[in-house]
Amino acid sequence: MPAQSTAPPVLELRSLTRTHGTGIAEVHALRGVNLTVRAGELVAVMGPSGSGKSTLLTLAGGLDTASTGQVIIEGQDIATLTRKQLAALRRRSVGYVFQDYNLIPALTAAENIALPRELDGISVRKARKEAREALSGMKLAEVVDRFPDEMSGGQQQRVAIARALVGDRRLVLADEPTGALDSETGEAVLALLRTRCDAGAAGVMVTHEPRYAAWADRVVFLRDGSVVDQTLSTDAGSLLAAEGAQ
Ligand code: ADP
Ligand code: MG
Repeated sequence: MPAQSTAPPVLELRSLTRTHGTGIAEVHALRGVNLTVRAGELVAVMGPSGSGKSTLLTLAGGLDTASTGQVIIEGQDIATLTRKQLAALRRRSVGYVFQDYNLIPALTAAENIALPRELDGISVRKARKEAREALSGMKLAEVVDRFPDEMSGGQQQRVAIARALVGDRRLVLADEPTGALDSETGEAVLALLRTRCDAGAAGVMVTHEPRYAAWADRVVFLRDGSVVDQTLSTDAGSLLAAEGAQ
């Protein structure tokens, strides 16, 4: 999707700040970030460790609350929602891929994927069927009945991604989704995110790897809690070299 896309915004961050602690212990994790991600776009977020990437993602997903500024998902300022409404929005509209997978150890792969759908009132039978289909679509049919500790890291990560993508999630947020993966599995994960965005979702992905950022339409660079640059991903290689980022 071109940078000048006019598709409707799925995610808008407006003057977003997040401050932890007070006085001498005060940390400005985000200092006034503005970002709009439209349907069909995949945005990569890059920047040094501690620059605020995970904070940006948790705020965008409604998992943490901004100090000031707004998070608007599909036109709704999430600060105006009750806790119950926010939980429902997160289950229905937001897919979140955590850096450390966050699969529930006592549930099988299929059960992990089906859980948010079941919580949302979809029948167990339908949710399990969706989960099996998602896994076979990712060539992971063999792990359907396996528990997380019976899967490799790459398999767990893909199950976590299936859990984030199942249903009709319009916003997909992924924090270093390729962290522990070999490059072939990492590329497969990016291809999945890309396909979902091409089908109309908006995606934001934190990554350290320029080769994964190259799948994105835009790259946003954070430093000390501020956006220091935005670029088309095709230009990212030269910008990265200039920034001295890895
Ligand atoms: P990144 O993901 O880019 O490595 P983070 O968003 O995790 O960065 O953190 C940004 C800054 O906020 C860091 O300085 C970090 O130490 C600080 N920070 C994050 N979470 C907390 C917290 N719960 N309490 C205090 N400081 C925090
Ligand atoms: Mg982080």
